[in-house]
Amino acid sequence: MEEAKKYIDEVYTKLISRDPNQVEFLQAIQEFFSTIEPVFAAHPEFIEQNILERIVEPERIIQFRVPWTNDQGSVQVNRGFRVQFNSAIGPYKGGLRFHPSVNQSIIKFLGFEQIFKNSLTGLPIGGGKGGSDFDPKGKTDAEVMRFCQSFMTELQRHIGPDLDVPAGDIGVGGREIGYLYGQYKRLNAPHAGILTGKPLLLGGSLARTEATGYGVVYFMKEMLEDKGQTLENKKVVVSGSGNVAIYAIQKVQELGGTVIACSDSTGYIFDPIGIDYATVKQLKEVERKRIAEYVALHPTATYHTGSIWDLEEPYQIALPCATQNEINGRKAEQMLKQGVIAVAEGANMPADLEAIRVYRQARILYGPGKAANAGGVAVSALEMSQNSQRLSWSFEEVDEKLKEIMKAIYYEVRDTAAQYSTKDDFVAGANIAGFIKVAKTMIIQGV
Ligand code: GLU
Repeated sequence: MEEAKKYIDEVYTKLISRDPNQVEFLQAIQEFFSTIEPVFAAHPEFIEQNILERIVEPERIIQFRVPWTNDQGSVQVNRGFRVQFNSAIGPYKGGLRFHPSVNQSIIKFLGFEQIFKNSLTGLPIGGGKGGSDFDPKGKTDAEVMRFCQSFMTELQRHIGPDLDVPAGDIGVGGREIGYLYGQYKRLNAPHAGILTGKPLLLGGSLARTEATGYGVVYFMKEMLEDKGQTLENKKVVVSGSGNVAIYAIQKVQELGGTVIACSDSTGYIFDPIGIDYATVKQLKEVERKRIAEYVALHPTATYHTGSIWDLEEPYQIALPCATQNEINGRKAEQMLKQGVIAVAEGANMPADLEAIRVYRQARILYGPGKAANAGGVAVSALEMSQNSQRLSWSFEEVDEKLKEIMKAIYYEVRDTAAQYSTKDDFVAGANIAGFIKVAKTMIIQGV
């Protein structure tokens, strides 16, 4: 449809002129725009209502100074962000990322993707994201605590159980959420519903910690089974060794696959007999050490510097669970050369546009992050439900709901792709399904 193409191009051109330097944000927009053209034939009202130009503008961006003192008593300053992107279907929901790379472009790309991811969960949550360029690496607990207290001193006035509910992301786990919650409570009435991913003692949900990693593997399982395959006896590579990777490794092994490699920002480990998730968890989460230490504990493992995606060993399944743009076109080609038939993304936007082109051209099974890693935020929404009910559900109950949600997401993505003549293109399926619901909800609420 000529008109739709022209409309998409116009909105994109205007956006580039407004945000010329926001590369990650523009990348996420480009990926999204490259798939949604078929929607407009069925929904001309989306053009009449100028939905695209509205949806790429965050409802609100908050940027703030975060001053804190280190253990030596010297004053440090970081930047804090919260992007409240879209509340059409519910309170803003999305994680906080603490990492030196954080800037407005990164938080906007994450917030933008979160809108459609949250929509796909079928739960009433809008899209948001936040964070800081604070680097928790190498900081003491006391420094992390003082930073979190300062961060929340500003953030608290912008969040609330029915307004905006942050959670964790890279660099923000149970420890940080605990400190953030403690400061919120000091300044406001206690309310468990203002953050998710809380430690259990603060009203967290069982299975929230595991949810993103398990969810990615449940999504992969659905993709494979739909094509008559299983994870059994498959060799799997998982990048990263944080919260998402650890539980993805555990679940793959439970379902009969062998994870032969995982990584951190310094390099990767290869172990042909399978990576032991408990060792990775102990090293990375408890001792906060490098993944290289793994080889001293497991003699069959070897450590390598460089990218895990340069691995020259046969494997069939790739689960990128590290960070954005970890895979470019060349690495995607390398993956295919090793025999990869399916990719499901635990990280947000781990493939650049070239890598996505390679996957799509090869027609491998490809579950984009928006769909494949939605399990984390889905269980966050279940945590919100439990907090409202003042109840806590069992691990099995939450895990069962997570499985159902991931299955429902897979089928919705698959069927939407087929309906819009892009059969088996799950990038298109995820974008279109997530988008239609949000766009319709925006229109109902008026301009
Ligand atoms: N940071 C996670 C994500 O990328 C989880 C967000 C949440 O639980 O709100 O979806």
